[in-house]
Amino acid sequence: MSVVDLQPWLDRARELGADDATLIDPQQVVTAEWVRLKCEFGCDGFGECRTCPPHSPTPATTRRVLDEFRRVILMRVGPSTDQADSDRLHEGLRKTATGLERELFLAGFHKAWSIPCGPCEECDPCNLEGACLHPERSRPSMEACGIDVFSTVRNAGWEIEVVRDRTSPYRFFALVLVD
Ligand code: SF4
Repeated sequence: MSVVDLQPWLDRARELGADDATLIDPQQVVTAEWVRLKCEFGCDGFGECRTCPPHSPTPATTRRVLDEFRRVILMRVGPSTDQADSDRLHEGLRKTATGLERELFLAGFHKAWSIPCGPCEECDPCNLEGACLHPERSRPSMEACGIDVFSTVRNAGWEIEVVRDRTSPYRFFALVLVD
Protein backbone atom coordinates (compact mmCIF):
# COMPACT_ATOMS: atom_id res chain seq x y z
CA MET A 1 0.00 0.00 0.00
CA SER A 2 1.39 3.43 -0.91
CA VAL A 3 2.12 5.93 1.84
CA VAL A 4 0.44 9.31 1.37
CA ASP A 5 2.87 12.25 1.25
CA LEU A 6 2.15 14.48 4.25
CA GLN A 7 4.11 17.52 3.01
CA PRO A 8 0.90 19.26 1.85
CA TRP A 9 -0.47 18.80 5.36
CA LEU A 10 2.55 20.56 6.85
CA ASP A 11 1.81 23.45 4.50
CA ARG A 12 -1.82 23.32 5.58
CA ALA A 13 -0.80 23.51 9.26
CA ARG A 14 1.03 26.75 8.45
CA GLU A 15 -1.98 28.08 6.54
CA LEU A 16 -4.14 27.36 9.59
CA GLY A 17 -1.82 29.39 11.83
CA ALA A 18 1.25 27.41 12.86
CA ASP A 19 4.56 29.25 12.50
CA ASP A 20 6.15 25.93 11.55
CA ALA A 21 5.29 22.26 11.25
CA THR A 22 7.38 19.12 10.82
CA LEU A 23 6.84 15.40 10.59
CA ILE A 24 8.14 13.21 13.42
CA ASP A 25 8.09 9.55 14.39
CA PRO A 26 5.86 8.64 17.36
CA GLN A 27 8.95 7.18 19.03
CA GLN A 28 10.39 10.71 19.20
CA VAL A 29 7.46 11.68 21.43
CA VAL A 30 8.62 11.13 25.03
CA THR A 31 6.14 10.21 27.78
CA ALA A 32 7.09 10.21 31.47
CA GLU A 33 5.38 9.67 34.79
CA TRP A 34 6.96 12.80 36.34
CA VAL A 35 5.05 15.01 33.93
CA ARG A 36 1.78 14.16 35.66
CA LEU A 37 3.24 15.05 39.06
CA LYS A 38 3.84 18.58 37.77
CA CYS A 39 0.12 18.83 36.99
CA GLU A 40 -1.01 17.20 40.22
CA PHE A 41 1.15 19.18 42.64
CA GLY A 42 2.51 22.15 40.72
CA CYS A 43 -0.50 23.56 38.88
CA ASP A 44 -3.49 25.47 40.26
CA GLY A 45 -5.56 24.18 37.34
CA PHE A 46 -5.41 20.55 38.51
CA GLY A 47 -8.89 19.01 38.19
CA GLU A 48 -10.40 22.27 36.91
CA CYS A 49 -10.92 21.15 33.31
CA ARG A 50 -12.03 17.96 31.60
CA THR A 51 -8.87 18.09 29.48
CA CYS A 52 -6.49 18.18 32.47
CA PRO A 53 -5.42 15.53 35.01
CA PRO A 54 -6.98 13.61 36.65
CA HIS A 55 -9.43 13.47 33.71
CA SER A 56 -6.83 13.34 30.90
CA PRO A 57 -4.99 10.18 29.74
CA THR A 58 -2.18 8.91 31.93
CA PRO A 59 1.38 8.82 30.53
CA ALA A 60 1.06 5.04 30.11
CA THR A 61 -2.17 5.34 28.12
CA THR A 62 -0.65 8.07 25.96
CA ARG A 63 2.36 5.84 25.26
CA ARG A 64 0.07 3.02 24.13
CA VAL A 65 -1.86 5.39 21.88
CA LEU A 66 1.34 6.79 20.34
CA ASP A 67 2.51 3.24 19.66
CA GLU A 68 -0.59 2.76 17.48
CA PHE A 69 0.61 5.48 15.08
CA ARG A 70 3.50 5.78 12.64
CA ARG A 71 3.43 9.49 11.72
CA VAL A 72 2.91 12.59 13.83
CA ILE A 73 2.86 16.29 12.91
CA LEU A 74 4.58 18.61 15.39
CA MET A 75 3.57 22.29 15.19
CA ARG A 76 4.85 25.46 16.81
CA VAL A 77 3.93 29.09 17.36
CA GLY A 78 6.50 31.57 18.59
CA PRO A 79 8.98 32.49 19.87
CA SER A 80 7.39 35.59 21.33
CA THR A 81 8.33 37.82 24.25
CA ASP A 82 4.97 39.60 24.31
CA GLN A 83 3.22 38.20 27.39
CA ALA A 84 0.05 40.07 26.45
CA ASP A 85 -0.13 37.92 23.30
CA SER A 86 0.18 34.60 25.15
CA ASP A 87 -3.55 33.74 25.31
CA ARG A 88 -4.09 34.54 21.63
CA LEU A 89 -1.13 32.37 20.57
CA HIS A 90 -2.10 29.49 22.85
CA GLU A 91 -5.76 29.49 21.82
CA GLY A 92 -4.79 29.95 18.19
CA LEU A 93 -2.56 26.88 18.18
CA ARG A 94 -5.30 24.83 19.86
CA LYS A 95 -7.65 25.79 17.02
CA THR A 96 -4.97 25.06 14.42
CA ALA A 97 -4.43 21.57 15.86
CA THR A 98 -8.09 20.62 16.15
CA GLY A 99 -8.80 22.18 12.75
CA LEU A 100 -6.03 20.15 11.13
CA GLU A 101 -7.28 17.02 12.91
CA ARG A 102 -10.75 17.57 11.44
CA GLU A 103 -9.46 18.19 7.91
CA LEU A 104 -7.24 15.09 8.05
CA PHE A 105 -10.17 13.00 9.25
CA LEU A 106 -12.42 14.25 6.45
CA ALA A 107 -9.62 13.51 3.96
CA GLY A 108 -9.64 9.86 5.03
CA PHE A 109 -7.09 9.76 7.88
CA HIS A 110 -9.65 8.15 10.18
CA LYS A 111 -7.30 7.87 13.19
CA ALA A 112 -6.32 11.57 13.23
CA TRP A 113 -6.14 12.96 16.76
CA SER A 114 -4.77 16.25 18.03
CA ILE A 115 -2.86 16.82 21.26
CA PRO A 116 -2.51 20.60 21.59
CA CYS A 117 -1.17 22.92 24.30
CA GLY A 118 -2.52 24.21 27.59
CA PRO A 119 -5.97 23.75 29.10
CA CYS A 120 -9.16 23.95 27.07
CA GLU A 121 -10.64 27.39 27.70
CA GLU A 122 -13.74 27.20 25.54
CA CYS A 123 -16.01 27.57 28.61
CA ASP A 124 -15.54 29.38 31.92
CA PRO A 125 -15.84 27.36 34.02
CA CYS A 126 -15.41 23.99 32.34
CA ASN A 127 -18.59 21.91 32.53
CA LEU A 128 -17.14 19.26 34.84
CA GLU A 129 -20.50 17.98 36.05
CA GLY A 130 -22.02 17.25 32.65
CA ALA A 131 -21.18 16.63 29.03
CA CYS A 132 -18.47 18.64 27.31
CA LEU A 133 -20.02 21.68 25.60
CA HIS A 134 -17.61 21.75 22.63
CA PRO A 135 -16.39 18.18 22.17
CA GLU A 136 -15.00 18.93 18.72
CA ARG A 137 -12.41 21.25 20.28
CA SER A 138 -11.77 19.73 23.73
CA ARG A 139 -8.48 17.87 23.44
CA PRO A 140 -6.03 17.33 26.31
CA SER A 141 -2.67 19.03 25.88
CA MET A 142 0.69 17.33 25.46
CA GLU A 143 1.62 17.98 29.09
CA ALA A 144 -1.83 16.89 30.34
CA CYS A 145 -1.25 13.57 28.53
CA GLY A 146 2.08 13.02 30.27
CA ILE A 147 4.26 14.05 27.34
CA ASP A 148 7.69 15.50 28.12
CA VAL A 149 7.37 18.48 25.77
CA PHE A 150 10.98 19.59 26.21
CA SER A 151 12.49 16.24 25.22
CA THR A 152 10.00 15.73 22.40
CA VAL A 153 10.68 19.13 20.84
CA ARG A 154 14.45 18.66 21.13
CA ASN A 155 14.14 15.18 19.56
CA ALA A 156 12.65 16.96 16.54
CA GLY A 157 15.68 19.26 16.36
CA TRP A 158 13.70 22.32 17.42
CA GLU A 159 14.55 24.85 20.09
CA ILE A 160 12.83 25.04 23.48
CA GLU A 161 14.03 26.63 26.70
CA VAL A 162 12.59 27.13 30.17
CA VAL A 163 10.72 30.44 30.37
CA ARG A 164 12.54 32.00 33.30
CA ASP A 165 10.76 35.33 33.57
CA ARG A 166 8.24 37.54 31.82
CA THR A 167 10.87 38.85 29.41
CA SER A 168 11.99 35.38 28.24
CA PRO A 169 10.92 34.13 24.82
CA TYR A 170 8.17 31.50 24.92
CA ARG A 171 6.72 29.08 22.38
CA PHE A 172 3.69 26.78 22.20
CA PHE A 173 3.72 23.32 20.65
CA ALA A 174 1.04 20.88 19.53
CA LEU A 175 0.85 17.42 17.96
CA VAL A 176 -1.50 15.86 15.48
CA LEU A 177 -1.28 12.06 15.36
CA VAL A 178 -1.95 11.25 11.72
CA ASP A 179 -1.89 7.54 10.85
S1 SF4 B 1 -15.21 22.67 25.71
FE1 SF4 B 1 -15.90 23.54 27.68
S2 SF4 B 1 -16.76 21.76 28.77
FE2 SF4 B 1 -15.49 20.93 27.11
S3 SF4 B 1 -13.46 20.61 28.03
FE3 SF4 B 1 -13.44 22.64 27.09
S4 SF4 B 1 -13.96 24.06 28.77
FE4 SF4 B 1 -14.60 21.98 29.41
